[in-house]
Amino acid sequence: MPRAPDHDSISNDALDAARRLVRDAERVVVLTGAGVSADSGVPTFRGAGGLWKEYRAEELATPRAFERDPRLVWEWYAWRRDIVRGCHPNAAHLALASFAASRDGVLIVTQNVDALHVRAAHDVARGDARALPVELHGSLFRARCTACGRREPHDEPVDASSVATLPVCARCGGLLRPDVVWFGESLDSRIIAHAFDAAARADVCLVIGTSAVVQPAASLAAATREAGGVVVEVNPEPTPLTAIADVSIRAGAARTVPSIVGQAAHGAP
Ligand code: NAD
Ligand code: ZN
Repeated sequence: MPRAPDHDSISNDALDAARRLVRDAERVVVLTGAGVSADSGVPTFRGAGGLWKEYRAEELATPRAFERDPRLVWEWYAWRRDIVRGCHPNAAHLALASFAASRDGVLIVTQNVDALHVRAAHDVARGDARALPVELHGSLFRARCTACGRREPHDEPVDASSVATLPVCARCGGLLRPDVVWFGESLDSRIIAHAFDAAARADVCLVIGTSAVVQPAASLAAATREAGGVVVEVNPEPTPLTAIADVSIRAGAARTVPSIVGQAAHGAP
């Protein structure tokens, strides 16, 4: 299987190989991380802009942090929502949505909570269910009741000036929390089973913009590989997954994904 040479420019051989693998695959699972949204201007946790005030994400995105100071945690989420509202799906999100809606057998699985894949599905695929992602880690634009567990779409402004003004459950009045999976929490078992099932049946696992240090990213790609499929990675930097990738595209997502999934804009390679 061809491998991308270890340099920064895009290797045409690697791009061609990726394009062919995807074109010939019956089933494709696409796994995305914060890097796919970096080209939309959404900060990654580990890159520049990953800090808020003096806090690291690991200090705020935990159940303990929310118990200790729900106001602070909501203030951080309100800030993140504002950033994402000012961003738009980029060429990679849009191409993936068109690709998934154009045929059966494609599943988009994301670790991102920014809902940009969902917005892309509405922008270019009229919300076609096949283009909607499996959101492994939840969404910034949903909330969950800490008392009764009810989940709801939630994108109204949050007043995080005091605990008394934080959003509450329409059903029981309990405090709402962001419906995202925090450090130390487990993923929804049905969602994870669905993603693993798709990965194990996929001919190609296309991994885009994840550092693969947060599980289950690494294991999903391994599931495809163990079942005889191939792994294609798109990331400007090497990651722990690079070792099991059959093709590595060392470049940003927006530049390369449209041509890999055959949904390039006119004139693109
Ligand atoms: P990460 O921040 O650990 O890694 C991002 C990866 O993207 C890096 O490997 C980096 O080299 C790569 N990258 C940077 N620019 C890129 C580009 N233009 N194209 C392709 N790749 C690029 O992100 P992660 O692996 O997704 O893990 C972070 C965790 O934090 C996840 O669980 C996620 O839920 C959460 N998170 C989500 C968002 C979001 O929703 N946009 C943002 C930050 C963090
Ligand atoms: Zn409730």
